Amino acid sequence: MSGTGASGAELTIDLDAVVANYRRLAERAAGAECAAVVKADAYGLGADRVAPRLAAAGCRSFFVATLDEGIALRRLLTEPDIYVLNGIPPGGGDELAAHRLIPVLNRLDEVAAWSARARSSEATGAGLARAALHLDTGMNRLGLPESEVEALARRPEGLGGIAVAPVMSHLACAEDSDHPKNAEQLALFRRLRAALPAAPASLANSSGIFLGPRYHLDLVRPGAALYGINPTPGAPNPMAEVVRLRAPIIQVREVAEAATVGYGGAHRMAGPGRIATVPVGYADGFLRSLGQRGFAVVGGVRVPIVGRVSMDLTTLDVSLAPADEARVGVWVDLIGGGLDVDEVAGLAGTIGYEILTALGGRYRRLYREGGTPA
Ligand SMILES: *Cc1c(COP(=O)(O)O)cnc(C)c1O
Repeated sequence: MSGTGASGAELTIDLDAVVANYRRLAERAAGAECAAVVKADAYGLGADRVAPRLAAAGCRSFFVATLDEGIALRRLLTEPDIYVLNGIPPGGGDELAAHRLIPVLNRLDEVAAWSARARSSEATGAGLARAALHLDTGMNRLGLPESEVEALARRPEGLGGIAVAPVMSHLACAEDSDHPKNAEQLALFRRLRAALPAAPASLANSSGIFLGPRYHLDLVRPGAALYGINPTPGAPNPMAEVVRLRAPIIQVREVAEAATVGYGGAHRMAGPGRIATVPVGYADGFLRSLGQRGFAVVGGVRVPIVGRVSMDLTTLDVSLAPADEARVGVWVDLIGGGLDVDEVAGLAGTIGYEILTALGGRYRRLYREGGTPA
């Protein structure tokens, strides 16, 4: 496939692979419902393209982070349940209800507010108001801590008017299957849940699905794995590759031994060689920390990123690539196509999640569907 990107970089997002990943995760968690987490614009890949495909593939529950993300998603999806992980923003109850969004209640005062609202609308004949109830089993981030769950368990009328589905918690260390915290969180979640009125339960994110059936409960909530990030670090990636970032070489320069490359003269050539420049930089979300550390693939050969990543440009040492592959107009791979997103993340000192959510708006985006670019 040759590029069409008007000499800019091209981001290909394989929607068929997202759907394949969804099916794989749903199969793995068979018996539980498989939701999709599409917060942060589907991890940077475009919720407007990703979510409708997942809905068409049978996904009935979607999670976003914020009210505004929920409103945008509701415009695209009429039927499915849409959960707002960050709960009820100040004064946001009416908007949540108007767009049929389901808040994830993270605090007792949110529970009280949603219950009060549910009771008053119940009086007008509306049914129970739905909400998810988030219990904190060890993240110390969002959700009711143990003491507040106990308080609620003593006064279950505090949930009056609310149909809780699901009661949920979030794993802190799921990507490390040997971590003792996984079992601790599962045990605490079970105990807290048993103290509350019966409700369907949800605990597993992407990696949690791979911890085994005990973690699946009624609903699983994968995000990262849908988008090709490895949910089982250290073992082969069971997910299909979704993202490919490519850019055309826009200049090739012969340089002498001891010449320096780029800002700060950060790289010094150990011998005479060739430097190729591609139009991708940190303004595109191609992380500056990849300077002197990352790689590109040119004609099947891995070549190092040398010098600093600039705002709009990145330089590659193509001295060892075949000369006819390292010339102006040839496309190189920067993510995908032999450079796994998790590997790129490792080289950048971060995680695949940050690589994806940082992907900028300047790339030409191509969505692959039905095996061809859409
Ligand atoms: C982001 C998020 C998820 C999805 O996690 P992944 O690791 O991307 O699968 C699930 N649940 C909650 C509460 C989250 O915040």
